[in-house]
Amino acid sequence: KVKSLSDLSGVGQNILNKLVEAGYSSLEAVAVATPQDLSVAAGIPQTTAQRIIKEAREALDIRFKTALEVKKERMNTKKITTGSQALDGLLGGGIETRTMTEFFGEFGSGKTQLCHQISISVQLPQEKGGLNGKAVYIDTEGTFRWERIEAMAKGAGLESDIAMNNIYYMRAINSDHQMAIVDDLQELITKDPAIKLIIVDSITSHFRAEYPGRENLAVRQQKLNKHLHQLVRLAEMYDIAVIITNQVMARPDMFYGDPTTAVGGHTLYHVPGIRVQLKKSRGNKRIARIVDAPHLPEGEVVFAITEEGVRD
Ligand code: ADP
Ligand code: MG
Repeated sequence: KVKSLSDLSGVGQNILNKLVEAGYSSLEAVAVATPQDLSVAAGIPQTTAQRIIKEAREALDIRFKTALEVKKERMNTKKITTGSQALDGLLGGGIETRTMTEFFGEFGSGKTQLCHQISISVQLPQEKGGLNGKAVYIDTEGTFRWERIEAMAKGAGLESDIAMNNIYYMRAINSDHQMAIVDDLQELITKDPAIKLIIVDSITSHFRAEYPGRENLAVRQQKLNKHLHQLVRLAEMYDIAVIITNQVMARPDMFYGDPTTAVGGHTLYHVPGIRVQLKKSRGNKRIARIVDAPHLPEGEVVFAITEEGVRD
């Protein structure tokens, strides 16, 4: 049975080296490549590339499935608690694996606090709403605080040093770096299959700063879309939950349309997933609302941000 690249027929040491050097270091990476890309990147004939891709797909069971099979797969989706039962309820039980969940809202609406909380929650045992898992935290704004992780770990009844060791942290310096980090994630996930959560907080800030205005919209959108699809692919391939955040501003200059349109347009439009809008309320209360999710009931819930973490 084919378990790794070297098991594919015709992939000897020579081709294997070329593939790995070109960034195709796993069956998954090869399975979703196009024959053209693979052939150019690895310097192998297109017919060979085609055959290798076909075999990788067979090995990974990438094929037409019946609706019943799809149902069974989706039933395997696992959930991570947000710390608030009300918010979990709104999400249909919690943050889902194999899914990208977007938290969007104004500055201070609780996006980063939720990211901290869920990177703790994922570590809990299943009966407490976790997956006994680890988290990857990609921070683009420099707002990650180990102090908050420590406090929330204690709040969740975890040993804080162990909990902090279960979070892989990286600061992304610019949008290219951010994309490169995600390019390389597959390797980390393969090495540490306990990873069950990937966070990008925020997904959009570098792209907005580097590609400002209408005139850059097309390029920004194109790059962001590639980035997002890569994240979705990781979620589906490895049964991982992906959380992204997106800061939006209330725009007093807008007379019509959604007053909380993402700055510079609906950049995240065409990628599947769950979008959750966050709003400030009184004191430590926040309001969450699900947007564009036909399979989830409409409505709003209130949750709180406390010293110990996110709560009802
Ligand atoms: P966003 O990422 O959406 O801009 P944050 O998630 O950073 O917003 O939320 C910041 C808010 O979180 C603060 O205004 C405060 O209300 C709350 N917060 C931050 N730290 C603590 C803490 N130690 N205890 C209680 N609440 C906190
Ligand atoms: Mg933030």
